Amino acid sequence: MDHALLAQDLAQEARRLSALGLMACTAGNLSARLGGSTGDLLVSPSGIDKGDLTADAFIRCAAEGTPLEPGRKPSDETRLHAALYRATGCGAVVHGHGIHAVALGLRGGDRVVFSGIEMLKAFAGTTTHACTRTIPIVENDQDMTPLAERVLAARVEEMPAVLVRGHGVYAWGRTVAEAGRHLETVEWLCRLRLLSGL
Ligand SMILES: [Zn+2]
Repeated sequence: MDHALLAQDLAQEARRLSALGLMACTAGNLSARLGGSTGDLLVSPSGIDKGDLTADAFIRCAAEGTPLEPGRKPSDETRLHAALYRATGCGAVVHGHGIHAVALGLRGGDRVVFSGIEMLKAFAGTTTHACTRTIPIVENDQDMTPLAERVLAARVEEMPAVLVRGHGVYAWGRTVAEAGRHLETVEWLCRLRLLSGL
């Protein structure tokens, strides 16, 4: 996709996810892969309220995460995004600190399992409520290398998201909108689990 249009998509989705409360206090980050042979990425900047992001705020980075615009600092988690592109072939990655997902992760365990929920159909490729979907949970780390290894090792084919304990959720998709929808869906399901008390 064209650089300018993709940056607009990212800014719009950042504002939407921020309004949903998934990116409080400058938390969260978003990226998308530009078309073409280089695999370059557009990545949100570090330390800025994601509700204030405009299209020109997104920073071009190489496929492995190195910033290509001198003097500009992309998200500290860019290398984890880059690892997810390599592993999944996705087109966009979003990360947020949804409070229900974080709360559910604090209950322990290495996964949360959902069955028979209509909202599972919000995950790309899931066409019926009559299925079981598992969101893996991994331990947090300030070092992106082990965190990326854990996320990639834990991910399962039919679930485009991983929950990091005490931290938040990484979700991905073919487009920015799809990745954002996956993040929103994980938060909705985690909220449901807490509300239902099951
Ligand atoms: Zn985070």
